[in-house]
Amino acid sequence: MSELLSTALVTGGSRGIGRAVARTLADAGYQVFLTYISKPEEAEQTVRDITEAGGLARAFKLDVGDSDSVAALFRDEIRDKVDLAVLVNNAGITKDGLMLRMKDDDFDKVLAINLRGAFLCLREAAKIMTRQRHGRIINISSVVGQMGNAGQINYSAAKAGLIGMTKSAAKELAPRSVTVNAVAPGFIETDMTAALSEEARDAYAKAIPLGRLGSAQDVADAVAFLASDKASYITGQVLAVNGGLYC
Ligand code: NAP
Repeated sequence: MSELLSTALVTGGSRGIGRAVARTLADAGYQVFLTYISKPEEAEQTVRDITEAGGLARAFKLDVGDSDSVAALFRDEIRDKVDLAVLVNNAGITKDGLMLRMKDDDFDKVLAINLRGAFLCLREAAKIMTRQRHGRIINISSVVGQMGNAGQINYSAAKAGLIGMTKSAAKELAPRSVTVNAVAPGFIETDMTAALSEEARDAYAKAIPLGRLGSAQDVADAVAFLASDKASYITGQVLAVNGGLYC
């Protein structure tokens, strides 16, 4: 495997946290494969950012909720073609609403992308990484999976599920030197939180002990640490990046 390029796959690497993760892992020396679903121009911008900085990157369209598409990406572009060193399960969506009015479809869709999608990629990556006997898997959970949030019963269930999935996968894969950890961001400035009113933003900032919303780079730095040699004895953990919102 040593002649193959050491590669990090970042799902949802076109924008927000995923873009910062993709750039940061490229700076750390990985070739980066990033995926997008609806915004090819944003994905291409991430690729340009990386290549202009001297790195290597490619973008792929992928619906992480579709198991055939996930299997095809790993079969056609990854297995035996690169050394898959890192998988970051970052792709995610929200469909918020109060529980009593939540539609079945809004519950199912959020679970399908945030939880099942991460499982599908994790399973494919694990097949490769266990054979290689090395690999780092990092699942992007959320503070609301740890503390709950009114109006996000679907999303918080998916993000709490990711924590259980992380711990189980860590136990299964440790004998092959593959680590699995989660990062649980708090409120981070991205498109996902852009819809918040100025008032809501101020209220959140006041509730955060460090006094500000986080940046995508704050999360990317935590991911890069878990992907690095410095984290080789860490597995099954949840690293909170939330400014102290939930300790
Ligand atoms: P974002 O700006 O909304 O970006 C979402 C990313 O996911 C985009 O790259 C999008 O691709 C991709 N995506 C959406 N549906 C997909 C699908 N079905 N298949 C593949 N990719 C898909 O979100 P973000 O704020 O950066 O969040 C990234 C991750 O961090 C998510 O898992 C989110 O739940 C988590 N998180 C965010 C916060 C926060 O405050 N922002 C806090 C805690 C956790 P396109 O660009 O092509 O649409």
